[in-house]
Formats: sequence, C-alpha cells, structure tokens
Amino acid sequence: MSLAVLTSCALVGFKMTSVRVEVHVGKGLPAFSVVGMPDTGVRESRERVRSAILSSGFQFPAARITVNLAPADLPKDSGRFDLPIALGVLAASAQLVTDKAGQQAVPALGSYVFAGELSLTGAVVSIAGSLAIALGVRQQMPGAQLVLPKASASLAAHVPDLTVIPIQTLAQAVDFLCEREQLNAALPSPIRPSTEAMLCMSEVHGQQQARLALELAACGGHSILMSGPPGVGKSMLAQRLPTILPSLEPQQQLEVAVIHQLDTSQSGTVLAIKEQAPFRSPHHSCTVAAMIGGGRRLHPGEVSLAHHGVLFMDEFPEFDRRVLESLREPLETGEVVLARANQRGTFPAKFQLIAAMNPCPCGYYGHKQISCECTPERILRYKTKISGPLLDRIDLHLSLHFESDLRQKEGQSESSESIKARVQRCRQRQYERQGCLNAALQGKALEEHAALQDQSHALLENAMQRWAWSIRTIQRMRKLARTIADQQEMALILPEHVALAMQYREQSALKP
Ligand SMILES: [Zn+2]
Repeated sequence: MSLAVLTSCALVGFKMTSVRVEVHVGKGLPAFSVVGMPDTGVRESRERVRSAILSSGFQFPAARITVNLAPADLPKDSGRFDLPIALGVLAASAQLVTDKAGQQAVPALGSYVFAGELSLTGAVVSIAGSLAIALGVRQQMPGAQLVLPKASASLAAHVPDLTVIPIQTLAQAVDFLCEREQLNAALPSPIRPSTEAMLCMSEVHGQQQARLALELAACGGHSILMSGPPGVGKSMLAQRLPTILPSLEPQQQLEVAVIHQLDTSQSGTVLAIKEQAPFRSPHHSCTVAAMIGGGRRLHPGEVSLAHHGVLFMDEFPEFDRRVLESLREPLETGEVVLARANQRGTFPAKFQLIAAMNPCPCGYYGHKQISCECTPERILRYKTKISGPLLDRIDLHLSLHFESDLRQKEGQSESSESIKARVQRCRQRQYERQGCLNAALQGKALEEHAALQDQSHALLENAMQRWAWSIRTIQRMRKLARTIADQQEMALILPEHVALAMQYREQSALKP
C-alpha cells in the first residue's frame, strides 16, 4: 500500500472538527512535505515524526512522502497530528501489517481517531484539549475509538459511551493496531471532591438580609450587585456563594473541565473533574480578551471559565467600560461568540454574576462615623460607569451596611450545608417544571411559568412609571418573584412575592 488514510481532529474554540490525514509514499527523490495550511507546529512535526519512527526501530522510507491534512481551511495547531502522520507513513510503507498464521494484512484503521504528539524518542506525549476532542468524537463519530496519549486518556475517559485507548509509545500503537498487544480502555481519573469545603456561610456573622439575598440568587441563578463600604463583608459573602450551590451534574462537570482544559494560562497544571461549581474573581485591570476570551488560538475568557459557576467582580465600576459592556451578551444569551481572522468559535458562558462596589470612590458615602470626601460629580461619574442596559441585566441589587449590633455570635449563623439543601430543593422544583432555572426563563416560557395576577401587574406598571423601569427590568422582576414563590413552594406568584422582588431592585444604590 502506498496510500494510507487516518482520522484525526482539530479544535476551533470549544468545537472539534474531524481531519483526514492522507499519507502518500511514492517514487521520486526523498522528500517529506505536509500540505493543508499547516502552521509552524505541524511543520515541526515532520522532524519529530522522522526521529520517532527511526527511534522506534522502524524504517523511514527513502521516498517522496506527501501528507495532506483535509479540510484545508481549518487551523491545525499543535502536534496532535504527529501520531496519525507517523502511523500513516508506516502503513503506506508496508510496515504496519498484522501477521496471523502466516497471513499478512493491513489492520483496519477506519474505526479509530488518533491524536498525540511524538517525542524524538518515539514516546507519545500529552496534548491540549483532550476532553473537548473526546466529547466531539462521541457526538460526531459514534462508535469510533479514540487513541490518545496515556497522560491525556484518563481525563478523556470521563466522557460516557466512548472507548479511549491509552498509548505510551509509537511502537506500542503499532503493536496494538497489529493485534500483537492488548490494551485496556482508559479508566476515568478520580473526581475531585469539593476543596473549598473550608469556607462556610456560618463564618459570616450578621448581614441577615444579604444572606437571604444570596440564597435567593443561588436558588434561581440570579445575578446580584452588592454595594457597601469597604470591609462590610462583600467579598466574604461572594466567596461563599459556591458553597451553597448544589454539586454539578456529571454533564456539567465535563463541560466545565473541557473549558478549563482549553485555558492556555493554566497549561502545565494537572486538571481534574470537579464537583464544585467554579468560582472566578478577575482583577479589575482585566482586559476584554481576558474577560470574554480570544487570542490567536481561541481560548476561553473569565465568563466561560465561570460557566455553571460564579463570576465575582469586585470593585465593579473600576473595570474598563468596554469590559463591563462585553458582559451584556453572555448575561443575556449564556454564551460568547468570538470571531478572529479565520476562525469563529463559541464558548458557553452561563455564569452567575456577583458584582460588588463601594457606594462612592472613597467608599464612605452614607457612612455614620466616617465622612465621604468625594464631590457629587465624582460620585455621579463613578456610578454612571455602569450603563443602564448592563444594570438591567442584574436581578438583585443590594445595599450592605455595618451592623452596630453583632448579636449573631460565632456558631449561631446557619451553615452552608443546610442552606445548600434548601437551594437544591428549590432548584429541583424549577427543573421539574420548566427544565431550567428561573433566571434563564425567556419569552413564552416566562409567560407560562411566571404568570402574574392583575394586582401584580398593577404593582409593576406603577413601578415602571415611578422609577422609569425598562421592560427588561420588569421581566427580571417576574423571574425573581417566581423564585421567591418557589422558595415558599407556591405554584402561583402572589402580589407579595412581586413586592418583595421589587424591594430588591428599589434599594439599588444606583437608582437614578
Ligand atoms: Zn466618598
């Protein structure tokens, strides 16, 4: 055989696309060329493939070798094509043959998807994005077996209904394909239990109203804006939100791990599948690209790294205006679309936003003992950094104050564990009724599941006129009222639920 065809894959953002690796070994002056818009990584792969083949005890054919990666218009970064190219060279030069009872045959390669980078010694080393690849193979090529470097296989093995074959060396891959060596499918790595178990809501003393608001936000997946002087406990509360969120479902755990594996700033660290919802707290000097993602090889931003978890933005008005505005799309749609020169990728970004801010630049506006040094213009400028449309997308607005009476002594506050049980029940109710959390209700589903009585309508219409609330704000209020009713296990939304929801908006530090 002088032509071999194998299947590999490329990643664009979150999405896997299959790549045909065609290797032709023909007559002519010895040469080795790779075509199909390869980037530097693939060009370097020629040298690795040549060395690995020789180091593994095979012959590197003294012939004209042409490798074509198709389709041609896909970016094909990283060395994950090394393994399929090397196997293709061996197959096309008749070095990949089974020998059963004197009958020589070429093994069937069509049922496998190969991905792995080769070292010069012939070892197969780990690759980036193995989980995204595994998820893509399961969805797009049902029945195919995935051959991966052993170091990347145990994570990929978490994808259900997919066989992952762990390979350590090129020679081992050849022996496996030629049925000279049996290899067991990779087993999933252990799931890491919640590590932030050290944090607990019982450590927050007082702030009863804020605790209730946080529980409400956790129940319905609502975003929240906390305003209060420095040291009042905004960060402390925000950091404890993940501790009252239910553990992630297996599918959610996978999605989170896939995104975190594509985070280039984390490369080199060992990734694990985690039960606990992620918590991200980017600094206010964060750029747009760091917040929503981007880069030459599309990488996820903070909003995607917080997928199924919490995005905490302290000093909210201190973020660059463009960064703040970039949150509008993911807050509305639950995903970000990134377009770069020749690629377009989508990353999921269903996160719960917790924003925190001081009431003014110095932090002491409205404080009883310390006087504020800010001019009214400065305070106005500070507050107007957060645009109306962005504010509309935040359901709960909360003002925190110092409590003079700290009667809630240590050990008297409720623990995260017992709050979490209530949150879980409330979420269960929503999933059973409508298949999503209340914060994600849209259009018809909102009309159907958050129906209001006349009296409630009148309350909201009144507020629209009095406080110039937008339609979007009104819809957010309905969702919030739905969650309050769910907390009380009520099928109907009562006017008192709507009134309570409105209180959470009405006390906004940013109201005009
Ligand atoms: Zn001030």
